[in-house]
Amino acid sequence: MTDPALYPCFLGPYGENDGLLEKLVVEFLRDHVFWRRNVHPEDPPAIPTSATLRPDFQAFEARLRRELHALSAALKRSVPFHSPRYLGHMVSDLALPGLVAQVLALPYNPNNVTEEAGPVTIDLEIRAGLQLAHMLGYGVDTSRADCAFGHLTSGGTVANYQALRLALALKAFPLALRAADFHDPALPEDDYAAFNLHPQAAIALLQRARDAVAALAPEERRQWQQRIESQRIEHLGQVEFFARHRQIAPPVVLAPLTAHYSWSKGMKLLGLGREQLLQVPERGMRMDAQALVAQLEQLQRERRSVLLAVAVLGTTEFGTIDPIHAVVAARERFSAQGLGFAVHVDAAWGGYLASLLRQQDGGLRPLAELRREFTTFPSETTHAAIAAIGQCDSVTVDPHKLGFLPYGAGAFICRDQRAMGLLSESADYVFAEEGVDDYFRRYRQLGRYIPEGSKSGAAAAAVYVTHRVMPLDAAHFGRMVAATIRSTERFIDHARHMSETTAARVHACVPFAPDSNLVCLALNPVGNRDVAVANAFVRRLYESLRIHHGRSVQEQEFYASMTSLHAQAVGAEDMADLLARLDLDPATLRAGHDGADRLFILRHTLMNPFLLDDQNGIDYIARYFDYLQRRCGQLLDEGTSP
Ligand SMILES: *Cc1c(COP(=O)(O)O)cnc(C)c1O
Repeated sequence: MTDPALYPCFLGPYGENDGLLEKLVVEFLRDHVFWRRNVHPEDPPAIPTSATLRPDFQAFEARLRRELHALSAALKRSVPFHSPRYLGHMVSDLALPGLVAQVLALPYNPNNVTEEAGPVTIDLEIRAGLQLAHMLGYGVDTSRADCAFGHLTSGGTVANYQALRLALALKAFPLALRAADFHDPALPEDDYAAFNLHPQAAIALLQRARDAVAALAPEERRQWQQRIESQRIEHLGQVEFFARHRQIAPPVVLAPLTAHYSWSKGMKLLGLGREQLLQVPERGMRMDAQALVAQLEQLQRERRSVLLAVAVLGTTEFGTIDPIHAVVAARERFSAQGLGFAVHVDAAWGGYLASLLRQQDGGLRPLAELRREFTTFPSETTHAAIAAIGQCDSVTVDPHKLGFLPYGAGAFICRDQRAMGLLSESADYVFAEEGVDDYFRRYRQLGRYIPEGSKSGAAAAAVYVTHRVMPLDAAHFGRMVAATIRSTERFIDHARHMSETTAARVHACVPFAPDSNLVCLALNPVGNRDVAVANAFVRRLYESLRIHHGRSVQEQEFYASMTSLHAQAVGAEDMADLLARLDLDPATLRAGHDGADRLFILRHTLMNPFLLDDQNGIDYIARYFDYLQRRCGQLLDEGTSP
């Protein structure tokens, strides 16, 4: 059933709220024009009122119209993300508040690189960071030195780069202090220990260094700043830095096998190299916490260092959630033994799930209460994982994914903003005194801290306004998320039903319980035991579900995506179990055997809030399964040879 609270939240599959959108866009466009005229109302119009009568003006307009018509026509071949028939990737209709706020802000063209270029929207960006931080369970009292901080990025990829950058800056800083002969009882006696502090201990040390330097006379202060700065990894570069600290090797990053490829990109970009990205094995599509501990023990024996352990909240391919709480526990245990590292949550996809678990007062909703609302969501692990985000060092979350906002909006959030100064372009800001009331003043020079330079203030306005209209708790934004979870649970019911009704022709099953609103479907024609044949069947099915260049949107019934399962990620036991459920012969799943080293499955993102349209008595998920069954029948009638 569609939650009526969601009726005004979107333009809608049928453009139902066109009146509201049009009214708001026109109203605020006029308001913008009014503002232009009133900056200095005495200035006369620069473009003559008769300009529109000129032939070259008219020719220009004609050309403009022609190109806009061509663009508009071409865009009709876009993917209909807004449609309840779209069950493909991580995108759906846009939240109306974000769309309007973005359109409203665009003609002002704010640039959030500094307050000089985006005096209004830069504060909105800092506030949007705090809104997200609050949803994730971080402290957001800006009068405290250890307040959280977050900023927007072009997407999750760049937010992940920022996580690497910040973790490296903080990890390497104590070594710069040592090399500069800075003395403090909290600074370890050897390089390895100094490089492997708990991130909170490293921040405390940074704070002590700041306080000590701030207490000096101006000339001496400048000398110390320069002395420390000249030893920092950001100044020396990794080659020289690690050459000077022979006791330590470049650190590794631990990420689960199914982590997003932005981690590999980030390792290359930072110059750490992909070889330093270690894959943590998985079990049942989630990071295997025991395997993580085993890897850490091995690294500890080899006296290696760990920059970051990445836990994923909503994997891109499967929507599964890593046991974040177990990763935090591992950080505590190993940090106590001298192998400290930061924990980053890559919640680019699943971050907004936290809104469903958040009470209006900021507390976490108990598992039992949530279970009364849903059938199986959230699993105990999911609940514990989301509860543990507050203890992680940083998070990536994408407003342009489950936040239903326009592209160009990812976010990086860190738990304790004191380390951010290390990313600053100017050394002065590393040691700038961290007064309690200058939080906003400091971050209004945003360009100093972020990987990007000029960036959209309109995107920040869209994120902020959406979070204001729909606060990030269960009673507001969480209702959109709840709708997606209900759809997922309905999907699982239908999948079960399909497996019964098509038992004579196709085996169908949900290969593993989903943690979020991303759900897969595995299929195999009855009688077939060969993985390669099952894969060919699923790929042919996918042909009618994927985006085809040139096929019109009216021709296509439904959209879904496809992915594949590796035994490595599923775990040997679970894979054997899945193959048995599909009546596939495990011997046919062979590594290196031309596409048969993995199992192809259909993948669905159930983000659209209007999948269960009770008003018209339509269940789009049921229709999708009807369609699938029909297509399966057709394909089987045509023959299934690969
Ligand atoms: C989508 C995604 C990313 C990358 O985000 P972009 O916004 O596409 O740059 C990173 N990690 C995960 C888990 C993702 O789902």
